[in-house]
This record gives sequence, C-alpha cells and structure tokens, in this order.
Amino acid sequence: MSVRRTTGIYTDRWGWQPHAWAENGLPTYPWRTAPAGLLTRRQMRDAGLAPGGADPVAQIVCRRGRIRALLFAPDDLRPKRAASPAQLAAVGKAIAARRWCPACQRDAGYCIPTSLGRCIACEYPDPVTAAVRDSGSAEAATTDNRPATRAA
Ligand SMILES: [Zn+2]
Repeated sequence: MSVRRTTGIYTDRWGWQPHAWAENGLPTYPWRTAPAGLLTRRQMRDAGLAPGGADPVAQIVCRRGRIRALLFAPDDLRPKRAASPAQLAAVGKAIAARRWCPACQRDAGYCIPTSLGRCIACEYPDPVTAAVRDSGSAEAATTDNRPATRAA
C-alpha cells in the first residue's frame, strides 16, 4: 500500500481537489471521489471510443491501493477504429495458415504449436490421436487431445 503524506492538490482542470494527491504526475483520487464524466479504459471501449494518443488526465486508486485505474476525458478521445473487410480477410487468412499442419496437410482445428511445426496428432502419434486424425474430425481432435497433453 502507498503511504499518503498529504491530500489536496490544485489542478488546472478542476481547481482545488481536497481528496486528491499527485502521483506519477497525475491527480490521484480515492474510490468514488474522482470528478464526474471521466472514463476508464473499459468505459471508453463500451462507449465506442479510443485514446487516439490522448494521455490520461487523472487516476483512481482502488482495492486498498493495489490497483490504479487511469481516467480519460471524453473530449480528448476519438472513435474506435473499425477493421476494413480487407483487413478482416487478411487476418482470417493468417489464422488459417497457423491452423494448417504441413505434415498431414489439413486444418488442425487449432493453431499448431510453433515449437513443433506440426499438429499434436502428428507429433505424438498414439493410438487415440491417430484414430481421431483418421476419422477426420478436427473438433474431436482438439477436445480429445487435452487430457493426453496434460498428462504428458
Ligand atoms: Zn498434422
């Protein structure tokens, strides 16, 4: 926990703030004492906004000083960017490439581990995973592999 030596600072934006103190260059407020209208990152995302390079204007301290939440002023924020159809298609192709096993030439149903370079069924050909692979069910392969990989 932080040690609070003095409270009360003067801020350009809100004037005298009796409950706040300065920390990392930001006015810092205890739970429920911050000025109204500021947004946390999650509130910002829920409102469809993004920082767009904006700096936080204050922070709150919660959970008995264990957590700091940065606060942003809505006027500084920009609308959240949306991915274009071409960008979404490119990401889809990239993920499909990560799911493709070069050894058995199929979609593994999950992103194959880069440490192996091929799917789990190819790397550990035990009777169970071989049967799953031969049945051609990628969904079953992912669920059936989990206990085996944990035990290994
Ligand atoms: Zn494979």
